[in-house]
Amino acid sequence: MISDISHQLKTPLASMKMFGELLAEPDLTEGERKEYCDILNQSLDKLTFLTESMIRISRLESGIIQLKPLKTDLNELLLEAIKQIYFKAVYKKVSIIFDPQEEVWINLDVNWTREAIINILDNGIKYSRPDGTLTIKVTEYDIYTRIDITDNGLGIEEKEQSKIFQRFYRGRGSEDKEGVGIGLYLARKVITQQNGYIKVSSDGRTGSTFSLFLPR
Ligand code: ADP
Repeated sequence: MISDISHQLKTPLASMKMFGELLAEPDLTEGERKEYCDILNQSLDKLTFLTESMIRISRLESGIIQLKPLKTDLNELLLEAIKQIYFKAVYKKVSIIFDPQEEVWINLDVNWTREAIINILDNGIKYSRPDGTLTIKVTEYDIYTRIDITDNGLGIEEKEQSKIFQRFYRGRGSEDKEGVGIGLYLARKVITQQNGYIKVSSDGRTGSTFSLFLPR
């Protein structure tokens, strides 16, 4: 894990060093100074996000943080998660479809589960195509409650589907998108720690469905 993280820290640190040195040059134009400052700040944001996420993950993994399941209104939780990504969706012109029918009560850790769901919704927007849709559907079975989150974006090829849950794995189409490859890793951890599971299905071209199964 340490070598994984050091590797991830290298790029933003190298970029900060380089642009920090460039900023010390005396004859910069105003435009250059601004450009270098922007790059420096972007790297700093990435580092901050990476460190915060790693601290959260290691606390979860080491058992310092225990998930605390509480009886929760699932529709309410999903609406809260949608609120968090709503402006991103509007900005990318992605329509969100969620039509809760009846109340669904389920035992889960609200904060961590919300975060897991936000990561998946966020990806649905990030890897969308223009004028995409993101559909959220809840189905209750005897033992599990199932949440399907379906987008009609880039899709995930079969050979990548088992890899995307690995820590720091970034797949096809992620090159020009922000992220560090831990959203799905964290999401799966949170769901499996609550005795649930998560799977993805996609034809690799016309979108993906992430299905979360949580014990009732
Ligand atoms: P990140 O988005 O930061 O790269 P994630 O762990 O959230 O990290 O996702 C891992 C990889 O899985 C992404 O880099 C991307 O290739 C792929 N992926 C995740 N969600 C989707 C999606 N909804 N559509 C297409 N590809 C996706």
